[in-house]
Amino acid sequence: MPLTDATHAPGLTSWIESANAPGHDFPIQNLPLARLRMAGSGDPWRVGVAIGDHVLDLQLAQKQCPWGEGVDALLDPLAAGDIAAFMALGPRAWKLAREALSMALAEGSDQAPFLELCLLDPNKLEYSLPCVIGDYTDFFAGVHHARSVGALFRPDNPLLPNYQWVPIGYHGRASSVVVEGGTIRRPCGQGKGDAPEPVFGPSRRLDYELELGLWIGAANAMGERVGMDEAEDRLFGITPLNDWSARDIQAWEYQPLGPFLAKSFATSVSPWVVTFDALAPFRRPFRRPAGDPQPLPYLDSPRNRESGALDIHVEAWLQTARMRAARQPPVRLSHANTLEAAYWTPAQLVAHHTSNGCNLQVGDLLGTGTLSGPLAGQGGSLLELSQGGKAPLTLADGEKRSFLEDGDSLILKAYCEAPGAVRIGLGTVSGTIAPAT
Ligand code: MN
Repeated sequence: MPLTDATHAPGLTSWIESANAPGHDFPIQNLPLARLRMAGSGDPWRVGVAIGDHVLDLQLAQKQCPWGEGVDALLDPLAAGDIAAFMALGPRAWKLAREALSMALAEGSDQAPFLELCLLDPNKLEYSLPCVIGDYTDFFAGVHHARSVGALFRPDNPLLPNYQWVPIGYHGRASSVVVEGGTIRRPCGQGKGDAPEPVFGPSRRLDYELELGLWIGAANAMGERVGMDEAEDRLFGITPLNDWSARDIQAWEYQPLGPFLAKSFATSVSPWVVTFDALAPFRRPFRRPAGDPQPLPYLDSPRNRESGALDIHVEAWLQTARMRAARQPPVRLSHANTLEAAYWTPAQLVAHHTSNGCNLQVGDLLGTGTLSGPLAGQGGSLLELSQGGKAPLTLADGEKRSFLEDGDSLILKAYCEAPGAVRIGLGTVSGTIAPAT
């Protein structure tokens, strides 16, 4: 079965001119969803589709525009502002709705005169999380991150022996997942430096983690394992994700049960959900490095070998308070590509997560783990870039950073580009550090 269809055609253009500008995050081939409303209105949340410099309001669009037979019912949950209810309709519905929206927004569509009246200005909107997140799990699929962080603690044995066999993860905190653009309060906690006793206070080693988040769109019953082939169909969408991390708290608390308060204070995602359907042109074969063990059978499938991996560029940018005051743009701290960075595919994360019968629910969020490239300077966290704080970075304006300081804005971006496909953006995730209270 071909992965791509008419909605991905590189020649497809929209009657909304700005969507056709090369390099735009939101061309007609993308069509991400978000929950939004007029800023400050206090109205119920609506669902919109990003298209060029506009957002199509799906409540208005369903009301004011004629849709083909069967499409109205697909749009019902979206018109009601409920992305989770739409996800619960399943993968066939996701595809049909995408096709309908693509045709309606395409150049020459006879729905254009109706939909022109349903466009919103994204700068006048505020955004919510796309859905209620029942559970958030963070994996550790970035092999270069695992190796370089492991080397800081265990120079002789950086990669633990389970790494090449088990997708390592931990249960994160769903209640503190927030959408981008907000303030992140510096956490307080217990840490132990070189002093004989631990101390409690504001974290002094506050860090980011450059990750992707996967939105689960279809549930499995408790006790039901999801095999590799079905695992693909449980994945609805993707977002850049920042797993804010307090390294001093983490280093002291993580043994023997793993991360806890060092990470549960905040996790940031984009309000935009880019669907897995939109990622079809950027699917790639899954390959293991030569000499590494092949995955166990429950983490292996022909489909995964052919197209389980994703070709996504991820970047982290920093703007300090001083840079902002001087109107200097953010500087890029690092970049990586998931093909190099991720040891496990999204389908493998789902199959592994459910391999013990654990029930995933619609709206669950899975973090990939920090996505670092293989080279120095490609670390997806300051822990790596500053070598645990030993080698501070010098920024373009002369400031130095080992970890994040109050007033720093950290911005994650992700996008896909490949020959023969139109580039799509996965949106941005930013957050600004506020002092501890
Ligand atoms: Mn993480």
